[in-house]
Amino acid sequence: MELTHSSTFLLLIIMLFENSIVGPIHSRRLGNSLGVNLLPLKHKHCSYDCIYCECGWNKETEQQEMVYATPDEMRSLLEQRLQQLRNEGKPVDSLTFAGNGEPTLYPEFPAMVDLVCEMRDRYYPNAATTLLTNATQLTRPEIFSAIRKLDNPILKLDSGTERMRQLINRNREIGNHPEGCSWDDLISSLIQFGSQGIIQTLLFDGTCDGEIVSNIIPSEFEPYTEILQKIQPRYVMLYALDRATPEKALRKLPASELEHYAEIIRSKGIEVKVYG
Ligand code: SF4
Repeated sequence: MELTHSSTFLLLIIMLFENSIVGPIHSRRLGNSLGVNLLPLKHKHCSYDCIYCECGWNKETEQQEMVYATPDEMRSLLEQRLQQLRNEGKPVDSLTFAGNGEPTLYPEFPAMVDLVCEMRDRYYPNAATTLLTNATQLTRPEIFSAIRKLDNPILKLDSGTERMRQLINRNREIGNHPEGCSWDDLISSLIQFGSQGIIQTLLFDGTCDGEIVSNIIPSEFEPYTEILQKIQPRYVMLYALDRATPEKALRKLPASELEHYAEIIRSKGIEVKVYG
């Protein structure tokens, strides 16, 4: 599910996880994925405010108290669910950090990585450990090291330039919102992370508040592929928007067009998987 918005949208559908442990949900790329949502259950907490985010906007929720499950509560919830699933003979292919915002902003994220790896080894030793992250916290050494322990670190990169990142992802690193990171720090962290990482990119084009917002125009896509060549990721996941935007300002790319851009990336020697 993806939702696009601009500040002028009349309709906003907010999709929040209501539990700390979610699923398993069947996913094309991860199989039966058990979600570990470390974020508050009532609102989003993220270092980005992407224009396609389905969790609502930070600004609508930042006045609310940040209430996280404690590490002990997470341990108990995760272990109970895994025991139950194993007793029922249900398959789990991935234990996946995902949820209402950016998982690495959880105050004790490295301990949660260790917990998930321990639980995977105990209950589903053949399952993968996966993280969906916007990569802004890779600049913190303890987060960088923790993410390295995971089987599938899936790292967001939606643009080829700083300006377009700001238009698409709305990085938050100024004033009262210091959680984001600079463009230069983001790119150098991704390059440092290198081939262990999987880069995830949502491709689209359109306008937002009268400005062109697109990561497929040549002035964006070319620098984006140059960055990929520097990162040399394990592979790239290309996505389209999951649904049309309420005001039809952002265009969902058809599968054929996604394939076209995948081929350009493949021609640079980088593997690409397309999820249209
Ligand atoms: S990084 Fe994810 S959770 Fe954060 S604003 Fe973007 S889509 Fe939403």
